[in-house]
Amino acid sequence: MVISEVSKQGLSADESLGKFRILYVEDTKDDQIILRRLLEKKSRINFELITVSDGFEGLKRVSKEDFDLIILDYRLPGMTGLDFLERLKKMNITTPVIFVTGKGDERIAVEAMKRGARDYIVKDEEDFGRLIKAIEEAALEASLPKSIDIRAAIYLAGLFSAHEILSGDEIGWLLEQSSHVQLESLLSALDELVKAGFAEAKPLYSAVACPFCGSLKPNLLLQCPQCGSSQLIKGEALEHMNCGGLDFKFSYQSVGGELICPKCGKKLRQLGVDYRRVSALYKCSNGHFFSLPTFNFKCFGCGRTFDIDEASLKTIYQYRLTRKGRSRLSLALKFGVDTPELEDKVTIENT
Ligand SMILES: [Zn+2]
Ligand SMILES: [Zn+2]
Ligand SMILES: [Zn+2]
Repeated sequence: MVISEVSKQGLSADESLGKFRILYVEDTKDDQIILRRLLEKKSRINFELITVSDGFEGLKRVSKEDFDLIILDYRLPGMTGLDFLERLKKMNITTPVIFVTGKGDERIAVEAMKRGARDYIVKDEEDFGRLIKAIEEAALEASLPKSIDIRAAIYLAGLFSAHEILSGDEIGWLLEQSSHVQLESLLSALDELVKAGFAEAKPLYSAVACPFCGSLKPNLLLQCPQCGSSQLIKGEALEHMNCGGLDFKFSYQSVGGELICPKCGKKLRQLGVDYRRVSALYKCSNGHFFSLPTFNFKCFGCGRTFDIDEASLKTIYQYRLTRKGRSRLSLALKFGVDTPELEDKVTIENT
């Protein structure tokens, strides 16, 4: 394996893009060989695979070394996979385990899950595909902060590959095309990235958020100050100063180029003398006229209404990946990109 430049400089293992260490506890030589070949050929991870042929040897290794993942066969000489899980627990080792059973051993697989296995694979003669996928998922999860939603992380990795800087409000727009990830889960995933040192956040401005559900999509709700109606029309209006009549311009009948006041029925004579323009007039569904509506908010998320005093303010940030974040999210990025057949594209750094 190639030692990366970063670890040569003496940085911690966390900062370097380390190898994903897998312990494979399997007595069948053929299976050991198949898994190694498939990982080398098909997987997108930078791994180190250590194989042992029985549980005793396996336990000896895990007690001395750190592994990121254990792949555990059920049928082993001397000690079954279930016994192995039991002993791991007693040793307080929490390394995730993928349990492998043969066809017909499904009930044992369920028992393994009860004993703390992360996942189980029922092995068909030749199909190791699911196992490779489960290993990749475990590797991806190990490369990211613990509390982060994996799908959100993959999505963010994709966004960051297209945009060096993402702002909290832009993400909402970028998200419109995709329905399978929620804006709120992306924003909280971004917070997780910042906490873990994967990204930096710079405050941009304060946005109005719903005090009930936290949604960042409140719509401004204009209401009649007299009756509260929110069905309004708005337009240019004229005020006939002689009679005090005030109405929309279209309500003044035009006869031979002259305007007739709808209130008193008289002709308007000269702009600025007996009548004036009102640039914005509102009329509610109950017939009230006003020039300044009441401002409230209606939430697109939960549908509730609130005023400016009740509104929460949420700081909108812009985000940029750190060097560490860029290298760690690179794996997520590989997962986000559609690569139906990976075959020759992937090179594992074996020297
Ligand atoms: Zn009204
Ligand atoms: Zn009039
Ligand atoms: Zn709401």
